[in-house]
Amino acid sequence: MPVPHHILKEPSIDAAVDLLLGDAAAANVSEIFLVPQAQHAIVRVRRDGLLHDWFRLPKEAHEKFLGRLKRLARLQESAPLAFQDGPLRRMADGQDVEGWIEIVPVLEGEKAVIRLRAEPLGLDALGLESTDLERLRRCVRSSAGLLLVVGPRRAGLSTTLHALLEAAEPARRHVALVEKDFHGDLPGVDQHASDPSVGRSIASLLRASAASGAEVIGLGALHDEAAAALAVSIAEHRLVIAVLEAESMQEALRRLLELRIEARSAARVLKGVLVQRLARRVCSECRRRDAMTRAQADQSGWPRSLTRRVFDTRHPRTVVRGAKCEHCQFTGHRGQIGVFEWNDLVAPRRRRNTLLDSGVHKVLNGAIAPEEILRT
Ligand SMILES: [Zn+2]
Repeated sequence: MPVPHHILKEPSIDAAVDLLLGDAAAANVSEIFLVPQAQHAIVRVRRDGLLHDWFRLPKEAHEKFLGRLKRLARLQESAPLAFQDGPLRRMADGQDVEGWIEIVPVLEGEKAVIRLRAEPLGLDALGLESTDLERLRRCVRSSAGLLLVVGPRRAGLSTTLHALLEAAEPARRHVALVEKDFHGDLPGVDQHASDPSVGRSIASLLRASAASGAEVIGLGALHDEAAAALAVSIAEHRLVIAVLEAESMQEALRRLLELRIEARSAARVLKGVLVQRLARRVCSECRRRDAMTRAQADQSGWPRSLTRRVFDTRHPRTVVRGAKCEHCQFTGHRGQIGVFEWNDLVAPRRRRNTLLDSGVHKVLNGAIAPEEILRT
């Protein structure tokens, strides 16, 4: 992203912070970092999953920016060197900005991390293959069981969890969501954010949601023993959809054992495991058709078993790549799409779509470039 001289020249700090938030939201940024160094501060952004240094800020301006951000998020301004976090909501420069801010004390002062809320997406728009979509939809309509959403950090797991809760029909059923941070409104869903400093743990919120009669409970992160035990016991009678950070289904099942869930109890309640990654979409402004031969695919590192299946030896396949333009900041990519593997444990299929199959499908239908599947 080019250096935003208009932000640096803006005399009013309030207006400059609005421009920063508005520009970042307009450019599809998912995270903004204001990182103090010895002489100045660096503003860094994450866009389409990758980090970029955006611009430098004089140290004095950095402190004023942090002051303004703390006021916007109603954090304590006069508490330097304390970890603070809270929701940030602002109509900034024509953009509706919603997110979560953390103030973290570091050696050179205070660092701000702003996570902007991703555009909420319906289940249809996530990028699931149509056969998987139908089965998953059936699964979220069931009345009991445990459904795991699995992937590494920043793989869009919260967006998927929210889409699944929306598909669980909150207009007809009592749906609740327990998360570490508040990620923005989900219509019709009872939302609870944990706050251990006042004794509001994930486990206590889960218990309260079940006691209040929730029929479907979303859980933003399954990573402590108490919450895991509770989630499994609640899943005997209600539907629990939980996010678990892990690379694969096998690792997710191993994590459950580490959280002291007995294999037998897990097997009794587990309905399915949805494994997810994010891939960068080809920029819609500069996309070009291109031909790819089997030899090129082999050379670019696609597994041979895959190229043998996708290509015949004589005919190249049509793929799409970005020619790099100003709309995509000369990267060839703009926006992201999910790549999925749905493991249905109730009605397993003889051959399921793996992450790789899902990636290849998206290459062949022109959503992502062929190089992208090796990143997922
Ligand atoms: Zn482009």
